[in-house]
Amino acid sequence: MRHPMPFGADYTPERTVFRLWAPQAAEVKLQRFCTGSDEEPGARFLGEVSMKGPVEGVFTYTAPGNLKNEYYQYILTDSDGNVIWSADPWALACGVNGQRSMVVDLAETDPSGWAGDRGPDLAGKAPVIWETHVRDFSSDPRSGVTPANRGKYLAFTEGDTTLDGAGEVPTCLNYLKKLGVTHIQLMPIFDYGSVDERHPERGYNWGYDPENYNVPEGSYSSDPCHGEVRIRECKEMIQAIHRAGLGVVMDVVYNHTYRSDSWLARTAPGEYYRTMPDGSPANASGCGNETASDRPPFREYMLASLCYWAQEYHVDGFRFDLMAVHDVETMNLIRATLDRLPGGERLLTYGEPWSALPTRMHPEAIPAGKAAVRQFNSRLGIFCDDTRNALVGSPFTVFEKGYANGNPSDKLAERVRAAAHGWCDRARMGYANNPGQILQYVSCHDNYALWDRLTIEEGAQNYDCMEPHRLQCCKLASGMCLTMPGIGFFLSGEEFGRTKQGDGNSYQGPEDLNRLDWGRTEQFADLVEWYRGLLGLREWLVPMGRLQPERAKGDYLEVPDNCVGFRLGGEGPWSTFLVYYNPYETGKPVTLPAGEWQLLCDGQHSDLWKADAPPVVSGGWMLPPVSAVVLGQV
Ligand code: CA
Repeated sequence: MRHPMPFGADYTPERTVFRLWAPQAAEVKLQRFCTGSDEEPGARFLGEVSMKGPVEGVFTYTAPGNLKNEYYQYILTDSDGNVIWSADPWALACGVNGQRSMVVDLAETDPSGWAGDRGPDLAGKAPVIWETHVRDFSSDPRSGVTPANRGKYLAFTEGDTTLDGAGEVPTCLNYLKKLGVTHIQLMPIFDYGSVDERHPERGYNWGYDPENYNVPEGSYSSDPCHGEVRIRECKEMIQAIHRAGLGVVMDVVYNHTYRSDSWLARTAPGEYYRTMPDGSPANASGCGNETASDRPPFREYMLASLCYWAQEYHVDGFRFDLMAVHDVETMNLIRATLDRLPGGERLLTYGEPWSALPTRMHPEAIPAGKAAVRQFNSRLGIFCDDTRNALVGSPFTVFEKGYANGNPSDKLAERVRAAAHGWCDRARMGYANNPGQILQYVSCHDNYALWDRLTIEEGAQNYDCMEPHRLQCCKLASGMCLTMPGIGFFLSGEEFGRTKQGDGNSYQGPEDLNRLDWGRTEQFADLVEWYRGLLGLREWLVPMGRLQPERAKGDYLEVPDNCVGFRLGGEGPWSTFLVYYNPYETGKPVTLPAGEWQLLCDGQHSDLWKADAPPVVSGGWMLPPVSAVVLGQV
């Protein structure tokens, strides 16, 4: 179903209706062009016309005839006679580098079979999200993807890729469909401004700099100059991911725009942004400006844009960048609005519960940050930096160890026990309504990759060697994250020792530092198997139901020192589970509760549960050093 937009260019073969809200303009002219820039073959100016209005700030023009794939821009004149040009902030398509908007026939951008395209039905599985970047995913020359598609949307449509294009080691989507995650989170795929789409090889960026919110980025397409191509290829990517049984979460950056002088600012000055008392842009984003979700114009813009992506592109969820730049009322309204879309309740919504700097939102508005989680809709989640810091240490104090890498202090053990209850027990520092609001993670695109963090902290230099103790710390950290109640999340490649050679902020590239090195799936095959086994076991251990408060909590078990142990009601073949974490480099003795217990995961191997007859233990037992252990009773 197509989502109707209140403004923009509404196309039919018979006519196109242009609508622009420009509350301070006295006159608006529409200019039409053959191409998205004057440098392209066939560039031609098609004329200019004055739009009707304003009526309540809205200018309208109905152009007769078929304007498909024509480009356009607006010329605005205010009452003082100041003239400015702008592309359309509501554009659904654009030319190269997003500088001119385009009239698009969306129906023609649908790939074959699109009407039947659906995101996955999780069928009781709790989500586990794997975060990647379109370019990082496939630019490795060994990725097995054909050279023309490397780093592009279409790389996802190559379903049978293997390392170096031959052999047995799966790569890219072929690898991912067997890993056990439920969703791919894509770093920005909306049109961003920091990479020249004509020459993507000359630049690299993560893309947190929005230019056109409702258009896919052009540098990931095979042809950035024909606006319909990026739309079709983006849809083909999503369709291919869905066919692999996975969902797509879109990373959205509504908190700021690339330029303060954006299309939003040019067409409606002062309406969409917060300002300082002197009129200069407020800057809670740390990127030069902050949008104003607490006021109707931007709130409505966000709502329309999100509904459009959900319906036109079939995305399965949204990750909100710097969500505390937005207000709680808007975020809850977003959740309620998405819920009303057909199938909308299954969309995931979560974000970073912080801003870069304090916001200038209305004093009565409440930032959607950590302190306000209890006021969130219970299906609006947050990244839990508390769990991350407890498990592996804060990224801002890199030589300070976490629980999983050599610091089993009283304080951290207490935080681990709380996290094991899904952070939803007030008495134990919890703050969420339910564990389904908590993303448990130890690495994401920001800060160090897990392998790098552990390497730096050891004072080591070599990021490429397989150091056994470091590997074990990775197993404990991920073992804890994925056995705790909550939504699972990890940075792509965490499961094969991803390295950026110690770079803690690689947003500007280079590409070869950021891209996934698929050869590491061979080198770190043992770690990949650990994640795969764990993700399979998690389906029983942390099913969807476990994300409810009453189901999350287990009984704590007797453990020595600052080990942690808890008992959970079982699922599937097991009536009860025991989960133990031993952060010490020595074995620790425990007395298991009465009865015989199957050893499902021993801290080294997470696939013991797959055996017909897993090893059985009872009574006094020794927890292996540096281990996350799961036992089950039949
Ligand atoms: Ca762009």
